Amino acid sequence: MKILVVGSGGREHALAWKLAQSERIQTVFVAPGNGGTALDNRLKNVPITDPKALAEFVKAEHIGLTLVGPEVPLAAGIVNIFREHGLKIFGPTKEAAQLESSKDFAKSFMERHGIPTAKYQTFTDLAAAHAYIDQQGAPIVIKADGLAAGKGVVVAMDLAEAHAAIEMMLSDNKLGDAGARVVIEEFLTGEEASFIVMVDGKNILPLATSQDHKRLLDNDQGPNTGGMGAYSPAPIITPQIHARVMREIIQPTVTGMAKDGIIFTGFLYAGLMIDDNGNPKTLEFNCRMGDPETQPIMARLKTDLVSVLEHAVNGQLDAIELEWDRRTALGVVMAAEGYPDTPVKGAVITGIPAETADCVTFHAGTQLEQGQLSVTGGRVLCSVGLGDTVKVAQKHAYEAVDAIKFAGAQARRDIGWRALYKKH
Ligand code: ATP
Repeated sequence: MKILVVGSGGREHALAWKLAQSERIQTVFVAPGNGGTALDNRLKNVPITDPKALAEFVKAEHIGLTLVGPEVPLAAGIVNIFREHGLKIFGPTKEAAQLESSKDFAKSFMERHGIPTAKYQTFTDLAAAHAYIDQQGAPIVIKADGLAAGKGVVVAMDLAEAHAAIEMMLSDNKLGDAGARVVIEEFLTGEEASFIVMVDGKNILPLATSQDHKRLLDNDQGPNTGGMGAYSPAPIITPQIHARVMREIIQPTVTGMAKDGIIFTGFLYAGLMIDDNGNPKTLEFNCRMGDPETQPIMARLKTDLVSVLEHAVNGQLDAIELEWDRRTALGVVMAAEGYPDTPVKGAVITGIPAETADCVTFHAGTQLEQGQLSVTGGRVLCSVGLGDTVKVAQKHAYEAVDAIKFAGAQARRDIGWRALYKKH
C-alpha cells in the first residue's frame, strides 16, 4: 500500500517514519517533506503543496490513504477536496477545523456545550477591547482569532502589555485577518499538558499523554515558541485526570460538534491547564497532532499505524487497542540561530547520530542538497531518547544533541524537568 503524509515538519517526519515500519507499506510519500525524509530511502519527497494538485497526484499514484500533519491545509479544506474526489484522508473538514482555525468559534462552542475553559469575550472594536481590559485587570490573555503560527497569543502580565497587544492586533493589523478579531480571556494558572485523541466521527481513541515546553529558554524563560521539546507519558495526567478529561472535555467536544451538525474526524488535541486541585480546563483545541509531541509519541507507539489509520477512515476505531512502549520518550528540539523571531537559514548540519533502539533524530527545518544537510527554518531537529526512567530518556536525547553541530544552534537543557522534579 502507498500512503501520503502532508507536511514538512518534525511531526510529519515522525509520522512517516512510523508508517514506513509497517510491513504492508510499499512507499510513504511526504509532501513536501524535509532533509530527513529525503535521507530515508523508505520515504519519498513530493514537491507539491497545493491540495488540488495533491489530490491529482494521489489518484495518479494510486495512493490508498493520506494523513495531514499541519493545520493550514486542514483549515483550507484539503479533507473536503480529497473527499470530493472519493479519496481516503484522515483529518477534519474545513468546518470541523474551525475548532483550531477560529478561537472565537472554539470558545463559543465550549461555552455552549459546557466544556471547562477560561472566561472570555470577543472583540473587533478597539475601544471596547481597551475598556474590557481596564475593567478586568492583569494578568490577562489576548488571542488573535485566526491562525497565526504560534504568534497570536499574548499572555500579558500587566495592563500596558495587554493594551499594546490589542493595538498590535486590532489597530496596527500586525497579524492581518487573523488578528482582526480578538479573544480576551481570563489568565489561568497550573500545569499544561497535551491530550491528543483520534476521532473517526463517533469513536474516540486516546493516544499516550505528553507535555510540551513552549518557552525558548531553560526554566520556562524567554519568548513562546512552537515548542522546544516534549516527553511522553506526562505524569501530571493521572488515571483520574485522564478519565475526567475524557468525560468533561473530549467526549462532549465530539458529541457537541455532531449536535451542531459537524462530524469531527481526525486528530483532536486539547491543550490543557490543570490546576493545583487537578481540575482540567481547555486552553485551546488543535485539530491535528502537536509538534513536538508527535515525535516522542510515535517513538513509543508499537501498534501498526497503517492499520490504525485504516480503521480510523472506516469508522472502526473501536476495534483498535493501542500498544505503547512502556519506556519514557523525551524529545529535545534544536532550533536555528535567531529563532523564534528571525531564524537564520543556511548553516551546515553535521554529526546526526544513526538511529538506535534508544534514540532517533527527526528533522524539521532541514534540506538535503548535493549530499549536504543545511538549516532551512526555525525548528531544525528533534532528538528523541527512550529510557526506563525520564532521566535515562533525557540522557539518550542529550547525547544525540551534543553530537549534532550547526552554527548558532539553540536547545534547552532541561526538557522533562516537571516529570523529574515535581510531585504528581
Ligand atoms: P499553538 O501554536 O500551540 O497551537 P496557539 O498560538 O494556538 O498555540 P494557545 O495554545 O492558545 O495558542 O496559547 C499559547 C500558550 O499561551 C499556551 O500554551 C499557554 O502557555 C499560554 N496561554 C494560553 N491561554 C492562556 C490562559 N488563559 N491562561 C494562561 N496562559 C495561557
